[in-house]
Amino acid sequence: MNYSKIASWRIKCSTYSLPTLDILNRNYPSLLNGFNTCFFCHTTVETNLHLWTCPAVISKLIPIFIKHHDILRIIISTNSNSHSALFADAIKYCEVFNWTTNPPNTIDDAPHLHCLLLNFVPTELLSPFKAANIGKQLIKKNLFQFLLDLHHDIYNTIWKERSSLWKEKKQSLNITKASFKNFKRSKHRRDHHQNQRRPNQQNFSPTNHGYNNPFNDSRRAIDNSILWIYLTSSNFLHNLPWLSSLKIDLSSFSSYNVNLDLFYF
Ligand SMILES: [Zn+2]
Repeated sequence: MNYSKIASWRIKCSTYSLPTLDILNRNYPSLLNGFNTCFFCHTTVETNLHLWTCPAVISKLIPIFIKHHDILRIIISTNSNSHSALFADAIKYCEVFNWTTNPPNTIDDAPHLHCLLLNFVPTELLSPFKAANIGKQLIKKNLFQFLLDLHHDIYNTIWKERSSLWKEKKQSLNITKASFKNFKRSKHRRDHHQNQRRPNQQNFSPTNHGYNNPFNDSRRAIDNSILWIYLTSSNFLHNLPWLSSLKIDLSSFSSYNVNLDLFYF
C-alpha cells in the first residue's frame, strides 16, 4: 500500500474528516437523494463518529484484534529478557485487545480501543512492554511497525470495504465523478448569483460549516497552540500522538492528558 494513502487515512480518522455520508450530504445536498445510512449496520446515519461506534464495525474488528494480540505476544516475548511469567498477564489482560472475548455494547465501554481506532495511541498499550522490562528504544522500534500493520488491517477490512460499498451505491444512483464536478459548478453559479443580489450578505463563514469536528475546533488553535502543533507536526505524521484517555473536555486542553514521555527518546 502507498504510505501516503494510509497516512492520509490515519490523519482523517483522528481529525474526524473521513468523507462519510453526513459530510457528503452536507457538501452535495440532493445529489445522494438523501441516502446517508451506514453501509455496515444499515440503521444509523454514517458519520465519522459512528464509523467507530457502529456495532457491525466492532464485530468485523474482532478477528483483527485477536490476530494482533497474538503478534504482540510474540513481539514482547522475543524482545524481553524477563521470564514470561512476569509479563504474560499484562499481555493477556491488555485492555486494547482483551475486549474481543466480551465485545463492548458501546464503544464507551472500550475507551482504549476507541482511542486506537481514532489513530491515537493509548498508553495502555505500553503496560505489557513495561511489565516485560523492555527499554524505550526497543518499544519504539517494535511498536510503531506493529501499529502500522494493525492499522493496515483495519483500513483493509473497514474502510476499503466501505469504499467498495459506496462505489456500488454510487453506481445504483448513477453518480459519477462528473456529478460531483457539475454539482460544484452549478453551486458556484448559484452562489455567485445570490451574492450579486445580496452583496452585503455573508454567505460563507468558516465557523458555520454545520459539522463539528472536536479535534479541529478553532478554539483549540486559539486557546492552546500546543495540541494544534502536536496534531499537525511530523510527530503526528510519523509517530502519532499518545493519549491516555479520550475522556477529555476538548474545549479545555488543560485537562487533556497527553503522555509526552515517549517523544523524548
Ligand atoms: Zn453502522
